This record gives sequence, C-alpha cells and structure tokens, in this order.
Amino acid sequence: MLVPREMEPKAPPPQQQLVIRIKVPDGGDVDWRIPLGSQLLFRDVLDVIGQVLPDTTTTAFEYEDEDGDRITVRSDEEMKAMLSYYYTTVTEQQVNGEMIEPLQIYPRACKPPGKRNIHGLKVNTRAGSSNNSCPAVTEGLPNNSLKKSSAELKKILANGQMNEQDIQYRDILGHGNGGTVYKAYHVPSGKILAVKVIPLDITVELQKQIMSELEILYKCDSSYIIGFYGAFFVENRISICTEFMDGGSLDVYRKIPEHVLGRISVAVVKGLTYLWSLKILHRDVKPSNMLVNTRGQVKLCDFGVSTQPERIAGEQYGIHSDVWSFGISFMEIQKNQGSLMPLQLLQCIVDEDPPVLPVGEFSEPFVHFITQCMRKLPTERPAPEELMVHPFVVQYNDKNAEVVSMWVCRMLEERRSQQGIQ
Ligand code: ATP
Ligand code: MG
Repeated sequence: MLVPREMEPKAPPPQQQLVIRIKVPDGGDVDWRIPLGSQLLFRDVLDVIGQVLPDTTTTAFEYEDEDGDRITVRSDEEMKAMLSYYYTTVTEQQVNGEMIEPLQIYPRACKPPGKRNIHGLKVNTRAGSSNNSCPAVTEGLPNNSLKKSSAELKKILANGQMNEQDIQYRDILGHGNGGTVYKAYHVPSGKILAVKVIPLDITVELQKQIMSELEILYKCDSSYIIGFYGAFFVENRISICTEFMDGGSLDVYRKIPEHVLGRISVAVVKGLTYLWSLKILHRDVKPSNMLVNTRGQVKLCDFGVSTQPERIAGEQYGIHSDVWSFGISFMEIQKNQGSLMPLQLLQCIVDEDPPVLPVGEFSEPFVHFITQCMRKLPTERPAPEELMVHPFVVQYNDKNAEVVSMWVCRMLEERRSQQGIQ
C-alpha cells in the first residue's frame, strides 16, 4: 500500500483514490494511496508516517491552507477539517479542469527522545495508551535540578487520582498559547473541574513551562491560588485538572466598581505574596490568569512561565516585574474600552513613561497604587510588604468575600440574560 513515488505502479484513476503525499524533510516524498470512501483515522496517518520515518517520533502533522499557512493536525476532528478543506480544493480543481494535486502533509517529527526532550518525557503514542500511573516519565536526567523536577512530576502523576476515563468534557472555557481549557465533570467525585489539555508535540521551552507549572501547583496551598487535583497523560497530550472557577477570568469583565476591584486586588496581592514567599515568581500576571467565583473567591492560575528564582541566575528584578504586571493588569481591566494597547505590547515598551490612570475617573488611592506599581525604575515599585500596607489595600483588606460574590453573581446573571436576548 505504501510505495516510494519513483517505484509506484501505474496509478488507478485519481477520482477513485485519495493520494496523501508525505513530505519527507530531506526530499524523497512518499505518496500514500487510499481508496476513496475508506475510513481514515488520525492514528492511521501517524502509523504510516512512522513507516516512512522510522527513526523519529511523530505526534502530529501539518498541511497548508490556501494562503500557504501551516495548519497542525493532532486529532480525528482536525483530520476531518483537513479532509473537508482538501475536498473543496479538489472540487475547484475539477471545475477548472486543472490537474488534481495530492494532499500534501508535513510530519512534525520530534527528535528521538533524550535529545530534544530534556526532561526525559517519553510519551507512548500508541492508541489507547491512557495512563494514570505515568510510565511516561523516566529518570536518568542529566543534572540534579531536572532530576528533582522529574521526580516531583512523577509523584504528582503517580498520585493517580485523575484519569481520562473518569472525566466527561463539557464546554470549552478558552484557548491559550499552550492548549485548551475545558469545563469537565469528574464522575467519581461528582466535581466540576477545569481541565487544561496541552499537546505534548511542543517545544522544549513549553515542556519546561509545563513541568514548572505542575511542580508549582503541587506545592501551593493557599486560598488565593487555584486548587490542583492532578494530571495525566493520554497519547500525545497532558491534561492538568484544577478547580473550576465559575466566574471565569477577569479579562472578560469591564470596568469593575472600585469597592469590588479593591477586594479583588487585595486577593491578588495576597496570592502573589504567597508565591513570592515560596521564592516563586508568577511571571504571567494578567487578567486572564486571575479567576473569580460566585463564592467571592479570587485565585491566581497559570504558572506556565513561572520560575523558581534559585534556578535562574541574575534574576534580581523578578518580583518587581510581577508588581509591574499586576499594575498594568488592573489598569487594563479598568480601562478595558479599547483605548489601551494590548497588554503584551505595552509590556514590551520599556523606554516609554508608564501610562497613568486619569484622576477624577478613579479614586486617588487607586491611581496612586497603580502608578506606584508601574514606576519605571523597578526598585521604586512597592516591595511585597509595602503593597500590603498601601492605603488602597488597607482600605479593602476586610476579608469581605460577600462583595465580590454578589458582583460575580450579578455579572453572570447579566451575561445569561444578554445571551437569552440574542
Ligand atoms: P495564556 O495561554 O497566554 O495563559 P490564557 O490565560 O487566556 O492565555 P489559558 O490559560 O489556556 O489561556 O486559559 C484559557 C481561558 O480558560 C482563560 O482565559 C480562562 O477564562 C479560562 N480558564 C482557565 N482556567 C480556568 C479555571 N480554573 N476555571 C474557569 N475558567 C478557567
Ligand atoms: Mg491562562
């Protein structure tokens, strides 16, 4: 069934078969002919790629859309999308009397594990390989700190309280850089969870971030940090199960009343202070990583790019950067009317004077607090202990969860009625 192009027998008429051209990085593309109408699964394609490239581990492949952009395929759903896109182009080629081009795919090959995957993660990509005891993680790492993190991760996963079979995925809560977050139902406990599913066919940098995230989540025990239930591997994905926050993240809220925002910012300061006390920098402080719920709780999540300072040399201004991001986040929430540049862009502008909130529209303590957090010189920004005694924080540090709770409930109610109207 699988033959190199130069050796291929006389092909049957093109309309009776689908030709998938597997693009091999160093030339010698291979055509794979499949009778039309046969069922084709993502796994089948990976198996064939495995035959073409026996020395590499392939967990995904790509195809090109009409603009030449590469689209990644990692699942049967994405395969369907690719095939339906391909059949549309075939129909167009037929209508125009053009030659029918094969479907070209580009394997996304990982280098043999150990070379590329510095954490020694080995993922069994055979179908049905769902693991909760984590045979996927191996020892034998090149240096002590990595060995430690692997051991930590093993402990988390071996904990084994979570596995794919026990989880029913419901809605998609959002997509981020690394993966997709689902609202899910954990059958044995009857709990609703947030499950972040991250494909493992990713760069070393992202793998490091995941390891870091898991270690940190595992360590943390604070009511201002998202609760962690466990993680598991299935095929080429890792799923991280955390507490579900029914109010979602702060990026979707517009201009929060200051007496509510005050209580939220106190919780965020406490969450950050907790992390800093463990010598952990958050490093991705932004509204989408601040979650609220109808009980009035506010929690930080996503330590994907967090780093434990002892691991990095010369990181003197880490806390100051978290403080700056905290300031810009709250400024962004309050000015969330399209007038500010995107957060990340703003964060890149180091030479400009920091943006300032207009006094008059916001209270003087709030403007002062945010302005201090965004001082250009890192050392002039408030230190953790100074944040806690700033008049704005002191004013709202009354543990009054009711205020946030009522506001979240009202916002969700409004959202529901707006959706009802549409
Ligand atoms: P980035 O990848 O840069 O961190 P992001 O934070 O928007 O961006 P994700 O972390 O993947 O991306 O999260 C996607 C969305 O899922 C978030 O914006 C948030 O609204 C939602 N979300 C994440 N975790 C939870 C949770 N525990 N409970 C409820 N919603 C959540
Ligand atoms: Mg996030």
